[in-house]
Amino acid sequence: MNKNIFTFIGFDNEFEDSQIVLFGAPFDGTTSFRPGTRFAPNIIRNDSFGLETYSPYLNKDLEDYMLFDSGDLDFPFGNPQRIIDMIKEHSKAIVNAGKIPFMIGGEHLVTLGSVQSVYEKHNDLHIIHLDAHADLREDYMGQKLSHATVLRRCHDFLGDGRIHQFGIRSGTKEEFTWAKDHVDMHPFSLDGLKEVIDELKDKPVYITIDLDVLDPSIFPGTGTIEPGGISFLELVGAFKEFSRLNNIVGMDAVELSPHYDQSGMSTAVACKVIREMALIAVK
Ligand code: MN
Ligand code: MN
Repeated sequence: MNKNIFTFIGFDNEFEDSQIVLFGAPFDGTTSFRPGTRFAPNIIRNDSFGLETYSPYLNKDLEDYMLFDSGDLDFPFGNPQRIIDMIKEHSKAIVNAGKIPFMIGGEHLVTLGSVQSVYEKHNDLHIIHLDAHADLREDYMGQKLSHATVLRRCHDFLGDGRIHQFGIRSGTKEEFTWAKDHVDMHPFSLDGLKEVIDELKDKPVYITIDLDVLDPSIFPGTGTIEPGGISFLELVGAFKEFSRLNNIVGMDAVELSPHYDQSGMSTAVACKVIREMALIAVK
């Protein structure tokens, strides 16, 4: 008999041998508009079998690397702090084993737990954040823990100048004003990414990709649609830049809400993004 093969495609090695450990964080409990991201990890795994393991963009193949899929965390819904703690604990076990945690959301709040675990080991951590939304609110309708506050919560312990944002095209006036003094925000596009990668080349970097950074014409399957996003090929250009980073210490891809796109296109896009992200992190 074979072991259960319901993993992301190509992630079929043993934990001990693997460089990257993928896990799902199926949580959408603070979603303010349309929920559904909790369904993303398993639908991504299911549809990933339609994808090639080889990336012609990066000329790398998932089959040539050691990758492990640890499945989804089993969350008690309704308690965001508890869920962040569970993610932190799981991610910490991966980090302490000398491996790279790669989390699939879920809504964007899940990033906080994973970043906390990586930060414990790497105090000089930088985050590269691709998103349509700034996610820099101090609170969202009184809630400090929210998908709309997640990068602000990361700033609470990282401090100024450590968060590098790209593609941002939505937020409050306060967020955009606050960003000027505290984070490195590049609105609307990926302009400036090359220079940031030059600067962060040898530093520990966590990459968080909120898939709604993509234009809704190719990625409609998400809760909070924002027109004016980047194209898939622009994102591929970003991956080529990311592959120059020597010390990627954690990653996530969040905010696919598969049921809003019955064509399956958004899930196919997410699968391809995940393949490329894995390939840029392995050396
Ligand atoms: Mn976000
Ligand atoms: Mn977003």
